[in-house]
Amino acid sequence: MVSKLPGTPRGGNRNSLSTPDVAVVGAGPIGLAIAWRCAARGLRVVVHDPDPGSGAVHAAAGMLAPVAEAYFGEHELTGLLTESAARWPAFAAELAAASGTDVGYRSEGTLMVGLTTDDLAVARRLWAYQQGLGLPVTPLRPSELRDREPALSPRMRGGAYAGTDHQVDPRRLVSALRTATERAGGVLVPTPVQQLTEVTAGTTVVAAGCGSAALTGLPVRPVKGQVLRLRAPGAPGFQHVIRGFADGEQVYLVPRPDGEVVVGATSEERTDTMVTSGAVLRLLRAATDLVPEVAEYELVEAVAGLRPGSPDNAPILGPLPGRPAVLAATGHHRHGVVLTPVTADLIADLISTGTPDPLLAAFTPERLGPGRSRPPATADPACGSAVPRPTPLEESWN
Ligand SMILES: Cc1cc2nc3c(=O)[nH]c(=O)nc-3n(C[C@H](O)[C@H](O)[C@H](O)COP(=O)(O)OP(=O)(O)OC[C@H]3O[C@@H](n4cnc5c(N)ncnc54)[C@H](O)[C@@H]3O)c2cc1C
Repeated sequence: MVSKLPGTPRGGNRNSLSTPDVAVVGAGPIGLAIAWRCAARGLRVVVHDPDPGSGAVHAAAGMLAPVAEAYFGEHELTGLLTESAARWPAFAAELAAASGTDVGYRSEGTLMVGLTTDDLAVARRLWAYQQGLGLPVTPLRPSELRDREPALSPRMRGGAYAGTDHQVDPRRLVSALRTATERAGGVLVPTPVQQLTEVTAGTTVVAAGCGSAALTGLPVRPVKGQVLRLRAPGAPGFQHVIRGFADGEQVYLVPRPDGEVVVGATSEERTDTMVTSGAVLRLLRAATDLVPEVAEYELVEAVAGLRPGSPDNAPILGPLPGRPAVLAATGHHRHGVVLTPVTADLIADLISTGTPDPLLAAFTPERLGPGRSRPPATADPACGSAVPRPTPLEESWN
């Protein structure tokens, strides 16, 4: 298969990387998945990143939550989340076969809960909205909740089940994608890209997380998330992802079979990655309110990551205005893990065929308008100051 986008060489020596067909800037889940899909189609691919997997994904919980993450006014994003979540089972199986790494896909589903009467009232508004979209949300009484998860606090006032909201392990995902990309012939170059003029390729894909702003001028801003990793003595005492409101605090707990439980996350309009005692306190208090036994678990890690946020919380996918050979695949904000399969498929298809899938139409850089981008500045992989103004803090769980 040969690339059809303008400026892309057709064919050529697969072993010669002097002018690759595709250069990807950024080896997070998005960049690596695009690189894997392109390399698997026979394209010559180079991925530039000084520290693969060190971006937002290092902190991510790995929830695949198109239902619980369906928020007021984000219909198009919800549609893309649903589409991508539906692709996850096949994607995970294909990736495991290509890499030899199990990415920890689990399908027990998600319990959404409210601790107090007030918490439940807030949660029910959101569940009603999600049900109105036709999403599968099943209300549960407190006794039904505890039948499903006896580890839940007996104080719980109510909840709902989102059976289609699953999970993966994001760190395993990056490792698997890296192996699969290299096995398919992709080459990783361990240096940062300061400016896109340094990159020579038929098509350049900018998938640098919040480092994308400095490279492209797109309005991608860092949204800080602090998250904890706990370890149960054996397997955690609960199997579902649990997310909810506890005395007005939002929190989630993501259990993995090896005993890890991820507790998250803050959502802060900040560019630093300092872990604060106040955030740890709030997360642990809310988590133990929902599942008391986690107070006995070991606290093994507290870390902060910078989500690549966009003005409308949706990803930015497609050619930069006036630069058809430079594609953006960024701005995935809270959803980069769940959106990995659909993003990789849509961008690899676009590079291969030159024809944009209709699904891309709502997510183009153009939708942000000429006033929403800035001239590129010197790139800072740690998301320095060359980022546009923040939008108001939104409530979020991941
Ligand atoms: C606390 C937290 C919890 C989250 N939980 C979830 C969740 O449960 N589910 C979900 O779907 N999403 C979640 N997310 C969001 C998800 O992590 C991101 O959307 C996702 O990581 C975006 O992927 P990416 O590849 O675009 O960017 P990143 O993961 O940020 O990777 C970007 C890569 O680009 C590289 N880079 C940057 N600049 C340059 C440059 N100039 N040159 C070369 N390389 C460069 C970096 O080194 C990095 O490796 C969470 C995020 C956080 C912070």
